[in-house]
Amino acid sequence: MIELGSTGELKALRDAAVRAPELYGARAVRLSRLAAQGLPVPRGIVLPVPLVAKLAAEGPAEPGAGGPDPAGSHKAGAATPGIGAELSAVVAGLGPEALLAVRASPPNPAWGGPHAILNIGVTDADLPALSQRVGPRAARDLYRRLIQSYALGVAGLDDEGFEALLYDRLKLEGAEDETGLDATALDRLLDEYKAHFLAETGARFPQDKATQLLAALIAAARGWTSGTARILRQARGAPENAGLALLVQRMALGLGAVLDDDTPTADCGAGLARFIDDRTGAPGLTGRYLPQAQGQDAMMGLRTPMLLSQDERLAQGQPGLSLEERCPGAVQALREVGAQAAAILGDAQDLAFTLEQGQLWLLDAEPARRSARAAIRVAVELAQAGAIGQDEAILRVDPSSLIQHLHPQIDPSHRAEPIGRGLAASPGAATGRLVFSAEAAIASAAQDHPAILLRIETSPEDVRGMHAAAGLLTLRGGMTSHAAVIARGLGLPCVAGASEISLDARLGTVRTATGLTLREGDVITVDGSSGAVLAGAAPMIRPEMSGAVTTLLDWASARRTLRVRANADTPQDARVAQRFGADGIGLCRTEQMFFEEDRINVMREMILARDAAERRRALDQLLPMQRADFIELFEIMRGLPVTIRLLDPPLHEFLPVSAGEIAAVSAEMGVTPEAIRARSDMLAEVNPMLGKRGVRLAILMPEIYEMQARAIFEATLAVAERSGATVQPEIMIPLVSAAREVDFVRDRIADVAQAVRREHDAEIAYRLGVMVETPRAALRAGDLMRSAAFLSFGTNDLTQMTYGLSRDDAGRFMREYVATGVFGEDPFHALDVEGVGELVLIAAERARAARPDVALGLCGEHGGDPAAIRFCDIAGFDYVSCSPFRMPIAQLAAAQAALLRRVP
Ligand code: PEP
Ligand code: MG
Repeated sequence: MIELGSTGELKALRDAAVRAPELYGARAVRLSRLAAQGLPVPRGIVLPVPLVAKLAAEGPAEPGAGGPDPAGSHKAGAATPGIGAELSAVVAGLGPEALLAVRASPPNPAWGGPHAILNIGVTDADLPALSQRVGPRAARDLYRRLIQSYALGVAGLDDEGFEALLYDRLKLEGAEDETGLDATALDRLLDEYKAHFLAETGARFPQDKATQLLAALIAAARGWTSGTARILRQARGAPENAGLALLVQRMALGLGAVLDDDTPTADCGAGLARFIDDRTGAPGLTGRYLPQAQGQDAMMGLRTPMLLSQDERLAQGQPGLSLEERCPGAVQALREVGAQAAAILGDAQDLAFTLEQGQLWLLDAEPARRSARAAIRVAVELAQAGAIGQDEAILRVDPSSLIQHLHPQIDPSHRAEPIGRGLAASPGAATGRLVFSAEAAIASAAQDHPAILLRIETSPEDVRGMHAAAGLLTLRGGMTSHAAVIARGLGLPCVAGASEISLDARLGTVRTATGLTLREGDVITVDGSSGAVLAGAAPMIRPEMSGAVTTLLDWASARRTLRVRANADTPQDARVAQRFGADGIGLCRTEQMFFEEDRINVMREMILARDAAERRRALDQLLPMQRADFIELFEIMRGLPVTIRLLDPPLHEFLPVSAGEIAAVSAEMGVTPEAIRARSDMLAEVNPMLGKRGVRLAILMPEIYEMQARAIFEATLAVAERSGATVQPEIMIPLVSAAREVDFVRDRIADVAQAVRREHDAEIAYRLGVMVETPRAALRAGDLMRSAAFLSFGTNDLTQMTYGLSRDDAGRFMREYVATGVFGEDPFHALDVEGVGELVLIAAERARAARPDVALGLCGEHGGDPAAIRFCDIAGFDYVSCSPFRMPIAQLAAAQAALLRRVP
């Protein structure tokens, strides 16, 4: 016997207590809030989670197959007099004549749940009265539907038997669908359904409303606890012990008398209404409606549904009427109810509704599904309308989703014949080197070469490669293929199903529709907005930020305390950073400037120099170029801080590798190929990432950093002279492991500053900082404070060195590491808070102890990762620095971090 006491009370749906989704389910909570504000929600009761669990555990065995009782009726619930009595009272309270629905209300709708059982309460004895109320046709159709859904949901029968009976009956009567069956035909069908039920279950269809209801409740409760249902919902993120609440509601009857004059104002039917465009978030009513229908019928493709609004019908050029034209009052009511529901629940809703004789009833309200773009617009508009606060709007948007606003497009004036075409599966365009495997994409990205990943089709094993790729091209698959779905989620430009392109995996070549043969490493462009694939690179247009995004980011800026700077190496990067409202440049990797075509040979001269004097001569040539770079950066950033990182990579990276390149450099520079090779061999290291790079170069060749420091100081003075702007450059030393390295560089730079001051008779202020990229630098951060005013954590190298894991090679086996669960995530993507993070915190603490005003920043790739940003915010950092296109993501994440910090 089921006692209600300890398991929670049945609650009336509009009871003020129905507010906790974990107890009553999300559907019941939303409907209850709407009902409490007077919206038309059918009356009902909620069975809370503990009671449903008890029903599942203690209801009679096999509720769906109770066997014939003495009266020969299929029944359930004889063993549950406690709840049976309560339910009888509920049934009476909802109106003895009312038909009832049992609906699932899980805490999260994404977890699924048993199907609704509708029209509970129709029996042979009640059929005449029901016919009086809704017409003989509708009454029989309601009964037929009840038998079928009860048979499926409670007695565990298949659909097919009933579908076959319906199909045969339609054929006999010459009807196209069930609306073409008259009452006599439906009577015959009913008899056939009942006979089928009896034959399959050995019991008559139950002829008592309370029995039907209890059996439906127990079946729903048991369905939730079945092994399959549990596995399915856990796959959707439900916890192991997730519970289910159930709703019992009066039916709003979407089936009714078809009046002779087909009076539209008394229409009956069911539909689904949306109030925003799921791609853009723009307001506008769309949806489907099916007359003489119930529940999900309008979305099942049984008959052609109507569109809701006249505008949508005209836009689609659909013949016939929209519901708005047929039943304007109902659509007007629907629009009003949609707006009220959004205001009450603080978000636009998709509404499942029924019209009963023209009267609108809400059956469900779910937050509107939308793309990332639409989500932002809706959040901003709700805040502007006062339905939610600005803080709430900020917290609602997933920072990573901003990526969709940030993608470049191919310049439309660019004319190029596509080498292939596919589906425009995920917006944005990207250029990169062609790679054929996820591993190759990861390896390419690790070397800072954008990759276009080409796969015949993708599977979950490819997802890590998709994360690393700049673009994706598949040869098979449609808009809902794995590749397309995942790419859209990642904001990764994707052309899918480019079937005219063929891959010969054995030869490692691709043949295009135009007869071109491409190999791994060739540069191509994919345009995920048009579906075109182009050979080579294409000019790109930077993406525009919509008004809603700008507004949201303005609100975010007012709330974040952590500053967001950009990693910008070129004036182009700096301009993007400026446009996105960067608080400065947190990392300018100066080596990028030396790789420029007109500079690399001067750089090579410097590297090939036989002595310091020759080296100085080459550096003298580089000086004006560096100075010009810095002048441009300082001017673009207009007084904002600019952190210039002195040369970092090992020198052999600048020397030519192939015989052809060596010959060309030899001819141009008048150095023998042998001399070039000899210098390359001399500089070659077994492990260059741990070799002569960063500050170690400066110790061995101080002239390089001296030239760079001079270029910085002279640029500072030049900008001040030209525009009067005060520039306070920050000079950053990479790959430090000992304080004495910093002291050494500090003294050299101070000498250069002094010399430039004297030469120009001008003041120069600058700040010197250290990149914390080695565990030793982190542990000895206190010592570093002798010379440094700021620390910036280079978490790429710091991760590499903390794990002892090559950042260039780890991609090759990281997938297995993550797949086997050894690592939760690739630590080069997501900051390892436990290990690397602890080093960061130790360094911060020791640095602050030695120098309380030390500024702290983070400039590795993690600077654009929302979780790492939260970490930096909590640790009281001054700034993070990330690539320019990740800035809005970082700004929003920083604002969210600040807001979340306020939550106790
Ligand atoms: C780092 O190591 O985190 C960093 C920012 O420097 P780079 O990536 O240039 O080595
Ligand atoms: Mg580094």
